[in-house]
Amino acid sequence: MTAQLIDGNALSKQLRAQVATDTAKLKAQGLTPGLAVVLVGDNPASQVYVRNKVKACEDAGLHSVLEKYDATMTEADLLARVAALNNDESIHGILVQLPLPAHIDGQKVIEAISPAKDVDGFHIASAGALMTGMPGFWPCTPYGCMKMLESIGYNLKGKHAVVIGRSNIVGKPMALMLLQQNATVTICHSGTPDLKAMTLQADVIVAAVGKRNVLTADMVKPGAVVLDVGMNRNDESKLCGDVDFEGVKEVASYITPVPGGVGPMTITMLLVNTLESAQRALSEKQHA
Ligand code: NAP
Repeated sequence: MTAQLIDGNALSKQLRAQVATDTAKLKAQGLTPGLAVVLVGDNPASQVYVRNKVKACEDAGLHSVLEKYDATMTEADLLARVAALNNDESIHGILVQLPLPAHIDGQKVIEAISPAKDVDGFHIASAGALMTGMPGFWPCTPYGCMKMLESIGYNLKGKHAVVIGRSNIVGKPMALMLLQQNATVTICHSGTPDLKAMTLQADVIVAAVGKRNVLTADMVKPGAVVLDVGMNRNDESKLCGDVDFEGVKEVASYITPVPGGVGPMTITMLLVNTLESAQRALSEKQHA
């Protein structure tokens, strides 16, 4: 079997076009969705990420503000900026790029963002909303994975999903989203004694570890759907995922490539969340 690709670039293009259309409708009603991206320090990878996020906003017609601060910025000053953005009516989403310099408590900063503008979905209120099935923003990467499953018409009901990784930003929210769609979910981590025994039972596997070749062909049930969240470098310094793509594509029914899979979906879902935040703000205004 050679798996079909789930093309994150193509799906992103489609979703971003919809965001652009809906943004234009909001603008016609007098409201432009706005995203503020805050970068502290000069981490090179973070600089690329924030540039891409701002560009994606501009391309879809959203208003975006990039605030760049020196690595010496104090935690108090950053908290003050977040408070100002919370009160800024032109801003519907606030994203503080992680990691922050070591002298700043990242969790404290995330908790300072208004849950109504937490388009990254990292606030504890957003995590609680996801856990209890209440309205709130879903973290963009696992949300993007769910959109990828939706794009192939995959019905999770009665299926066994195995998530490898249990971080707060990918693994755990991924598991909750799959559970919400009635999958039976297993979460694996570095303490899982026999990963292969788990993954061989899976109809859907999400690899979110950050290590090459965590998932190889012998660990995959024929016909399984494999989503690769990992971002690593191979021996030639090229971007690769957690999955041995060449081997696993011969066993799986669907697979996401790296690059061009989950990666572009993350920014796309950030746009989707920001648009949704603006739509909620408008609706609140209209009903006030
Ligand atoms: P993380 O916080 O480092 O979490 C990694 C998880 O993998 C941990 O739960 C860890 O277990 C588990 N793990 C480590 N070794 C393992 C092993 N041998 N077998 C099973 N589980 C193992 O990483 P993250 O933030 O979730 O990110 C994961 C990967 O996704 C990274 O490569 C990251 O760059 C990538 N990522 C991509 C996007 C995107 O847009 N495509 C977005 C976010 C992240 P313990 O909890 O026991 O330590």
